[in-house]
Amino acid sequence: MTNYAIDPPAQATLSVAGSDACFPLRRVFCVGRNYEAHVREMGNDTREPPFFFMKPADAVVPNNAAIAYPSATSELHHEVELVVALGAGGKDVSPEQALGLIWGAAVGIDLTRRDLQAQAKSKGRPWDMAKGFDASAPIAPLVQMADVTSLSSGKIWLSVNGRTRQDANLADMIWPVADCIAHLSTLVELAPGDLIMTGTPAGVAALSPGDEVVAGITGLPDLKVSIAP
Ligand code: MN
Repeated sequence: MTNYAIDPPAQATLSVAGSDACFPLRRVFCVGRNYEAHVREMGNDTREPPFFFMKPADAVVPNNAAIAYPSATSELHHEVELVVALGAGGKDVSPEQALGLIWGAAVGIDLTRRDLQAQAKSKGRPWDMAKGFDASAPIAPLVQMADVTSLSSGKIWLSVNGRTRQDANLADMIWPVADCIAHLSTLVELAPGDLIMTGTPAGVAALSPGDEVVAGITGLPDLKVSIAP
């Protein structure tokens, strides 16, 4: 019998703004179709309840990452999103309890192989390889909740090479953060270290090698990434 030496994987973490501390990551949940104008730009119905998909925790990459243009796509899209990190878990959490689970918040980008997602949708296949590929979740340093201005209003925007592509307000979310957490907690038992990416507003578009991307949300540190040439 062959003995394989298996090293434990490195713990995926997120940095904490203004600190040397690292926040250990557990799972990354993403909300689909949570801003009306984006739901319409993708040709979908705006009255559905929230739905979820996942990325692996080690798809998370930090601020200032140079991200290699991924394989198997010619349509890499940006989706700027508010990310919340849970410091406590629970199941069947009420919307009133949900905000109390949040440890901090950050700006993130849900990088998407849009062409693979379109194929998956048309064939009724899973989205994993469209959404959960390597380095598909750049996320800026986390800000602890005590220092977060608002999770329900404030500008959310993304620019590529200095030109604005996405520009909206957190108030435009169909399902506010508390409702997303409450709904998700009816599907899985949430736990400390879980991240929730809360959906993107309109203006998603393709990235090219060499692009410089900056994304922001009022009151949170900007996220900067480049797509490697
Ligand atoms: Mn998204």
